[in-house]
Formats: sequence, structure tokens, C-alpha cells
Amino acid sequence: MIVRSGREILSNGARLSGQSLQPLRTLLAGEQELTIRELIDEQRRRLDSRNPLERFAAAMLIPAVLAERLAGLADRQVGQLLLDEVWPRLSPVAPESTICLHAADRLRGSPKEECPTCPKCGSEMILHVGIDEPDFLECALLRCGLRIQA
Ligand SMILES: [Zn+2]
Repeated sequence: MIVRSGREILSNGARLSGQSLQPLRTLLAGEQELTIRELIDEQRRRLDSRNPLERFAAAMLIPAVLAERLAGLADRQVGQLLLDEVWPRLSPVAPESTICLHAADRLRGSPKEECPTCPKCGSEMILHVGIDEPDFLECALLRCGLRIQA
């Protein structure tokens, strides 16, 4: 049987029980709308759980919900997620890092205009494609950190 969503898992009689899993049942039932980044954090957090059922959820159930949500994103948003969530976890000297950056750049596309200048410090502003929020520009200078809506 191919499981397409967390909701389907539950409707097919998932055997989740116990109080610590109530938030997960709610999450998978779609009653609590988490953002995609919250789902990613939730999966990472549960992978480290001491509770084997929570680890099972992180390994088997949350990915199904995440996949369903990713299917609704535009290519440029998937590219941004690669850049924000995947690439930083790769070794910078491994070929996977180069391939991931290349894929992220392709998916995000090339900017239509030149990058604007930060009004606070004069550095370049970098466009971030919004996932759960509107697109925004962020100053390339880390210590400045100015963010403005694109
Ligand atoms: Zn700045």
C-alpha cells in the first residue's frame, strides 16, 4: 500500500497512542496547520526523541505530510528550501554541496533586476523566496541583518 498523506495513515488506523503523541496526531490530521519550516523542525526534533513511536513518526509519517506540502510549492520555493535547509547540512568540500547549490540556483531562477543596496549599510541585498511568508530582501552583511519585504 502506498501512503500518500499523514491523514491517510490515520484514517487507515494508525496505531499511535499515548499523551505525548497527541500533538502529532493533531498535526497529521491536519487540524493544526504548521508551516513547512515548522514541519521540518518537528521532524528533526522527533528524530532525536527517546520515544520510539516519536522516532517512527519522524521517519515514516511526517515525511508523508511534508511531501504533500512540498508538492504545492513552486520550483523557486523548493530551490530556496534546498538553499536554507539542505545545503548548510552538507560538507562544503563534498560534491553534494556543489550539486545542491547548482540545483538551488536553477530552481530559484535568475533575478529579474539587479540586487538593491541596503538602505542601512550600503551592502548588497539578497532576495529570499518566501516559503510560508512573502518574498523578502535580506542584507548580505550578516552583522547588519536588515530584512525588508520584496
Ligand atoms: Zn545592511
